Amino acid sequence: MKCYQCGGELKRSVATLHLQKDRKPIFMENVPVTICEQCGEEYISGPVAEKLGQILDKDQKPQALLSIPLFDFKLAV
Ligand SMILES: [Zn+2]
Repeated sequence: MKCYQCGGELKRSVATLHLQKDRKPIFMENVPVTICEQCGEEYISGPVAEKLGQILDKDQKPQALLSIPLFDFKLAV
């Protein structure tokens, strides 16, 4: 399988995804993805996407709660 964006080689990896649950931002760690070695494009397989949906639908307790620094580009420069 080749990258749809640039034709580069794909390799299996894990990623931390930025998702939304009930309109709130969440992070999901250790998600199996296929990533392009050339442009960095990430691909998520159908079964993994389905599992992500199931996890988000369930009212599961997160493994950790983070407090995340937020920068405003306009104010920070
Ligand atoms: Zn690529």
